[in-house]
Amino acid sequence: MMPHWIAAVYFVAALVMILGLKAMSSPLTARRGIFQAGIAMALATVVTFWHPQVAGNIALIIAAIGLGSVVAWISGKRVAMTDMPQMIALYNGMGGGAAAAIAAVELLKHGTHTPLALALGVGGALIGTVAFSGSLIAFAKLQGWMRKLWRFRGQQILNLLLFVTIVVLGVIIATGQDHWLLISAFFALALLFGVLLTVPIGGADMPVVISLYNALTGLAVGFEGFVLEIPAMMIAGIVVGAAGTLLTQLMANAMNRPLSNVLFAGFGAEEGATAAAEGGTMKAIDAQDAAILMAFAEKVIIVPGYGMAVAQAQHKIWELVGLLNQRGVKVSFAIHPVAGRMPGHMNVLLAEAGVPYDVIYDLDDINAQFATTDVALVIGANDVVNPAARDDTSSPIYGMPILNVDQSKNAIVIKRGQGTGFSGIQNRLFVGDNTRMLYGDAQKVAQSLISGVKAL
Ligand code: NDP
Repeated sequence: MMPHWIAAVYFVAALVMILGLKAMSSPLTARRGIFQAGIAMALATVVTFWHPQVAGNIALIIAAIGLGSVVAWISGKRVAMTDMPQMIALYNGMGGGAAAAIAAVELLKHGTHTPLALALGVGGALIGTVAFSGSLIAFAKLQGWMRKLWRFRGQQILNLLLFVTIVVLGVIIATGQDHWLLISAFFALALLFGVLLTVPIGGADMPVVISLYNALTGLAVGFEGFVLEIPAMMIAGIVVGAAGTLLTQLMANAMNRPLSNVLFAGFGAEEGATAAAEGGTMKAIDAQDAAILMAFAEKVIIVPGYGMAVAQAQHKIWELVGLLNQRGVKVSFAIHPVAGRMPGHMNVLLAEAGVPYDVIYDLDDINAQFATTDVALVIGANDVVNPAARDDTSSPIYGMPILNVDQSKNAIVIKRGQGTGFSGIQNRLFVGDNTRMLYGDAQKVAQSLISGVKAL
């Protein structure tokens, strides 16, 4: 039986964590929210040392926490913003794996659990294991270690058969059969299932998949919290599960694709997508001419994308906006929900550069404005401004809402060369009559634009 004071501390930790999550919903309070949630986690972790179930191995536990913290701290400090999705995939996978490991230990404890706890334990074990192996594959894909899409005939039937076998084994275990061979087979097949489910999914869909596995990890942790009778785990897990589910849905909606299409359609750049070359030639512009075009415009919309993140050009771009504003040009930022490589990627970068929120607009709020805009400046964005998504039914990104840059009077696109976006397809915008290509690294080009405007 857990002492009341421990339950009270768990309750406070849960409350602080939920308030922290709430604060994360606005960029103004997000930093505080992350800090708050971290404190809550630390509190829940520390108090668990006094939990009656933590009877021994204190030195081992402290060593594991110390080791994990050092590795996480160093990798968290070092990781580039653009590599964040694979980092999240890796850490999320660890969460799923930890939940599965707890389940394995509990399932091997002969007859100590109620039937409900056993059932939840098995459920958590399955979900956590799939999230673990699936997240590792997602990591490998995003890291560029695994470019091939593994698809073969009958793959989905094999997956279904495998899933049914795992469920049958799970039901047998949940009825109290706890032979280690049975449990080992269950875990091995669940690991295989996570791998097989993820290998056919294209790299471009990985962030959605990671978000889904994140939700599953939360659920697994919540289930294991029930088995261990630790409320903090239950609450944290369920909150992560719910938030992850919403985020997954949001991302799928932003691409205008049902989740089933993300998981089973095999959309992706590496091999499957047809990259039909678009006709027409790209017309280049130099920085000085682009600066003149913008400096004498009334209305400019800036569309940032993944390339801005790679080049870390946000500070220079904001400096450029300041100069344009001084000349009376009205400048707004248009953010596509899946610009960059993770939800909110562009918002974070712009906030970092000090861009105020009242000049940043979401797709729905700004799309009608492009038709009356003198210059749309695209910085390292590609897929999110690709008109094929609107009218080419054969395009892999068909149906995804895009920013209507092609409708503006002039479009200037900053990118380094002929590189495709994450989905690996050509972009008709770049050969449009009103489009000019401004080649170079986004940060260097932004500096040239600043010099160009200053020189006028
Ligand atoms: P894209 O990946 O489509 O295009 C980025 C472009 O930036 C490339 O064409 C590249 O061209 C250019 N670029 C790269 N480095 C630089 C640099 N240093 N300076 C200037 N340009 C550079 O980016 P988008 O933001 O338009 O689209 C995001 C993609 O990610 C979409 O396909 C979306 O579906 C996907 N995605 C995003 C998610 C999210 O949550 N944000 C989730 C799931 C998927 P070049 O090599 O010629 O320079």
